[in-house]
Amino acid sequence: MMSGDFFFRNKIPVAILGATGCVGQKFVQLLSKHPWFEIFALCASEKSAGKTYQEAVHWTLPTPIPDEVKQMQVLTCETSLDCQLVFSALDSSIAGFIETRFAEAGHLVISNSRNHRMEANVPLVIGEVNPEHLELAKSQPFQRGMIITNPNCSVIGMVMALKPLMPLGIDAVHVVTMQAISGAGYPGVASLDINDNIIPFIKGEEGKLESEPLKILGDLQGTTLQPASIKISAQCNRVPIIDGHVACLSIKLNGSASPETIIQAWREFSGEPQKFQLPSAPLHPIYYFDDPFYPQPRFHRLLDKEMAVSIGRLRPCSLMDYKFTLLSHNMTRGAAGSALLNAELLVKKGWVYWS
Ligand code: NAP
Repeated sequence: MMSGDFFFRNKIPVAILGATGCVGQKFVQLLSKHPWFEIFALCASEKSAGKTYQEAVHWTLPTPIPDEVKQMQVLTCETSLDCQLVFSALDSSIAGFIETRFAEAGHLVISNSRNHRMEANVPLVIGEVNPEHLELAKSQPFQRGMIITNPNCSVIGMVMALKPLMPLGIDAVHVVTMQAISGAGYPGVASLDINDNIIPFIKGEEGKLESEPLKILGDLQGTTLQPASIKISAQCNRVPIIDGHVACLSIKLNGSASPETIIQAWREFSGEPQKFQLPSAPLHPIYYFDDPFYPQPRFHRLLDKEMAVSIGRLRPCSLMDYKFTLLSHNMTRGAAGSALLNAELLVKKGWVYWS
């Protein structure tokens, strides 16, 4: 059956690399009820390989391990797989070369890891923001395979808030993040370090917040990407929240715009995932709240399939033009959910084949 045909006889088989980690588990949870995809293989390190998934995984999600994967045998990432689509949630220490090897073997790799994100011919895509950048992958050196990447988990929420404001002209952004513990994977940050505490450093994070948005918001001119020219300064903190990254932004515009114009741009924002009604697409990518106590991780991280960005507290900034607060779920919108959305877009565009 060819893609683009939504009268599925069979679901599309997919593999997860790094299936035992935090993001890998989120993939398992989301895929277990996915209408188009089904889990064909679960891969992880030598430590997990050979065990059943139930034995290998330290399950941290509040829903039970789906029955259909409990007895699946975990494979190494050396295994050759008979499915085109491969989601990668690998630790970045090994993700780079393993993902390249899968692309060389003809797989369509959709990665959450940082390793390939900033390579010139690797699309760094948020479904609602820059689906046209997927074209960059056509110039990758693989025969049939390719690598598509998701941005950093905090970058996704931030860029989704900025994209609707691009027509107003954004000159500069200052962002301070408060990032959840699950963003560090498992076992992540020691409880003695994070309880009753805030850690004002996340290795490599500020550089990602200052560079990735420029690629995502850049203009594709032919086969070349012209990065956006926005000055960004980021400060990142780890806070004792389980899921949900919060960010406080101040923005400087090139011209002037009223708060009503900005709020309307957020509330009306939608993209290809909404147009195509993709299974992982939220009805509304952005929710703006008038209540000055919102957004809050406990109340809003699960909003609209855990895929919405919640924004509140838009107000004048005495240093720049405006400031506001946003929240997004780091493991769903910030990782597995956005990767699924990218895969669904690729199905819709006819890049995925299965029989
Ligand atoms: P994690 O909980 O530490 O999981 C890492 C996964 O990689 C595990 O399945 C682990 O398998 C596997 N792995 C480690 N070494 C391996 C090796 N040598 N060979 C094969 N597999 C190996 O990390 P995570 O939080 O899920 O993050 C996964 C990736 O997504 C990272 O690159 C991270 O930066 C990125 N990311 C994370 C988030 C988030 O919110 N957590 C958001 C966006 C992006 P074993 O269990 O067998 O060791």
